[in-house]
Amino acid sequence: MTEVKAKKFLGQHFLTDERIAERIVESLSTETNHVLEIGPGMGVLTKYLIKKDELDFHVVEIDRESVAYLHDHYPTLDVIEGDFLQYDLTSLFHDTFSIIGNFPYNISSQILFKVFDNRDRVSEVVGMFQKEVAERVAAGPGSKTYGILSVLLSAFYNTKYLFTVNENVFNPPPKVKSAVIRLRRNDVKSLECDEKLFVQVVKAGFNQRRKTLRNALRQLNLPLDRISEETLAKRAEQLSVAQFIEITKTIESCL
Ligand code: SAH
Repeated sequence: MTEVKAKKFLGQHFLTDERIAERIVESLSTETNHVLEIGPGMGVLTKYLIKKDELDFHVVEIDRESVAYLHDHYPTLDVIEGDFLQYDLTSLFHDTFSIIGNFPYNISSQILFKVFDNRDRVSEVVGMFQKEVAERVAAGPGSKTYGILSVLLSAFYNTKYLFTVNENVFNPPPKVKSAVIRLRRNDVKSLECDEKLFVQVVKAGFNQRRKTLRNALRQLNLPLDRISEETLAKRAEQLSVAQFIEITKTIESCL
């Protein structure tokens, strides 16, 4: 079967450098037994993963042409044809699992929000994003790229920026540089505050990131009076995860 023709609307940029593919696969922790690959395309990562006999390994791919290619080249592989964002992760593994991929960049944030929503199932994520998203995930307070995903994910994951990847190792080359990151679940079971409210506070804070918290959180219509003046005068990008949890607890105590 001939190669898959890259479709822009599916974010298809096929990795052509085998060494980088191997490096990504090797970044998965060795404790991992259950693995889901998102968007295998023509299987540049898949072919290394499938060699690991000990793995319970599945792939989810939306593109029918890629699915046909995978069936042809990897007849024993379990290919789920469909949209990862719509896919019900509870139906696949009974245990925790890892996610790997050179992800479709047009849905990067949505993939990461889905990981956050499934944080008690997803023990690890290793994969390629556009560099800017990778930096955002790995950023800490005070940095320009620190944002909603940095806070939400670092509450439950240890994040690590692994390496930068040039655009010329893809076919077709994307317009931006890429980077591989790894997220590993930390041992926080719960944040000891209302987690829905925590998400609301973080989102409201960063939606108006130039404003002080006093102004940014006003839209929530929640009691802010017990939060210290010092905290209210800060901007979301200056706050650590622990401080967001404190703010959430303070609001909760007034409800
Ligand atoms: N991993 C391959 C392909 C990367 S391109 C490589 O490195 O060469 C991104 C891949 O994600 C494409 O195969 C594309 O078809 C697939 N994809 C795009 N949107 C998807 C979705 N919502 N669910 C599953 N796969 C998707």
